[in-house]
Amino acid sequence: MKEGREIFRRPGHPESKEDLAKREGVPLEMQQRFREVYPEFYQIIEKFDFPYLKERYGDIARRSGINPRTINFLGANNFIPVPQRPARQIPGRLGRMMRYTQEGRGSYDLDTNVGHINWPMMREMHGNKEEIQWLLPFHLLRTFIHEETHAVSKGVCTAFDEEAGKYREKQTGYEQWSTADRERGGEYFFKRFDEGVVEKLSQEILLDYLKNARDSNFDVTSVVRFLEWHKENPELKSYVNEIKMVEVFTKLISKVTSVPEEVVWQGIVRGLFEGENLKNQEIKDLVEEIVGFDLLEEMSTVRDTEELVQKLEKKISPTFIDRIKLLYSR
Ligand SMILES: [Zn+2]
Repeated sequence: MKEGREIFRRPGHPESKEDLAKREGVPLEMQQRFREVYPEFYQIIEKFDFPYLKERYGDIARRSGINPRTINFLGANNFIPVPQRPARQIPGRLGRMMRYTQEGRGSYDLDTNVGHINWPMMREMHGNKEEIQWLLPFHLLRTFIHEETHAVSKGVCTAFDEEAGKYREKQTGYEQWSTADRERGGEYFFKRFDEGVVEKLSQEILLDYLKNARDSNFDVTSVVRFLEWHKENPELKSYVNEIKMVEVFTKLISKVTSVPEEVVWQGIVRGLFEGENLKNQEIKDLVEEIVGFDLLEEMSTVRDTEELVQKLEKKISPTFIDRIKLLYSR
């Protein structure tokens, strides 16, 4: 049995100074215009405890061997209160609440380094419904944290296409995108896995933030109320199946390597911050050796995460573990 193998420790792509310089952020006059149109959005986010949040992301970076001062923390000024993409409509329990896709709540645009939050949708959803009105700042906060996690994940843009005005190759955390992939029939790789990791980590950060940050949007009573609500209700969580996929994957790796689950999870977080390339043949071979099939190939383009989770769960059967143990004890 091989032990303590850090299968996720691989360097990501270097990011050139020119690539960094192309990141623009939100121009001041645009921020000013948004402030006039959506003052309430700014009233809430200005109370967010940015130093606390930045420090938490810094801690994670430090644990991942990355200088905390170099992380791409957006803060208030690099978010704008409008969606990047139009929302689609999905019926749901809280009426309008789930009419929008997860992407519809917010997004992070790697090309411009700007976070988008669908404030008009949130305002409309919570504004007139008394029973969910109190959730509005929490909804904004959780969306904000999710997109901030995308932003602090390793982001790489390469091969700027002057003609098209955009990049040909991109990576954020585990997600990879390239125009060449698009020609081969797939635009995004490991998007689901990346979202699962981002949302799981964001939920950890959210809960820690609500317990420890200094944020006058929330008093003790509303935080306690929210924590109870959040346990029972899925509406403000996203990528439920993707999280499940990450958790089952974590369990699987933990079991076959005898590395505690928490350590494996920290390794996955480190990969997010380092921009681990899961297309790397060495890693693919290693995972295939562990799970017995080309799991990363399946995870790279998976749409039905539920199906993959079921497949993975079967792999964690006691017989499978015994087989692996036997294999490694030879
Ligand atoms: Zn996301």
